[in-house]
Amino acid sequence: MLPIIANLLQVQERDTRLLNLQRDLKDIPTLQTRARSQLSDDQAAHDAAHAAVRDVEVKMKNLDIDIQTRQNTIKRLKDQQFETRKNDEFQALANEVKRYEKDVHDLEDKQLDLMEALETTKAAEKVSREKLAITQGHVNEELKQLDERSANIKERITEVKAERASMVAPIDPDGLALYERLSKNKMGTAIVVAENGVCGGCHMKLVISTLASLKGDKSITHCEQCGRILYFA
Ligand SMILES: [Zn+2]
Repeated sequence: MLPIIANLLQVQERDTRLLNLQRDLKDIPTLQTRARSQLSDDQAAHDAAHAAVRDVEVKMKNLDIDIQTRQNTIKRLKDQQFETRKNDEFQALANEVKRYEKDVHDLEDKQLDLMEALETTKAAEKVSREKLAITQGHVNEELKQLDERSANIKERITEVKAERASMVAPIDPDGLALYERLSKNKMGTAIVVAENGVCGGCHMKLVISTLASLKGDKSITHCEQCGRILYFA
């Protein structure tokens, strides 16, 4: 094997690693988005449960106001009743008071129903909050791991780039330029093995003259089909 090919194979091995590392790094934002999206269902469920509690609380507050208003009216009617001397007017006011007292009684029944509803919705809200917290914990852990993975990949990229730089330094610039051009066109496989008379890149049968040139080991030999640099294993 030509020394330059042996050197370029080492470079190619680093380039393959770099490509894989860079692809892994590029995947990370997608994985982060996917991790965060796990929260959306639980968050929506918790928001709905919280809204249900708020709804009952608002209804209770309105009911309190309704009851208070009627109690004020009852007090006013009773005052009027106390002041009147007319019997029929007294009776009419008494009927009014009775009617308002029945109203208050009905509203107090509703109040009991709402208190029960408040208990139920608060229990559901607690369940949804706990579920959300558990999911948040998982998601945080996943995001932390992704951050670590990202840092790790970046570190390895720096290392491999440094290795590559020291490997290319002694290589003839024309040979390196040839390799880099091919590598770019052939998705990172510029140099391939020739095995059983077949190119390891395009898998086509190599012609006799190509195999002869390869055996001669005097200069760089290319596959006549795909143009990749060939070597014997
Ligand atoms: Zn080929």
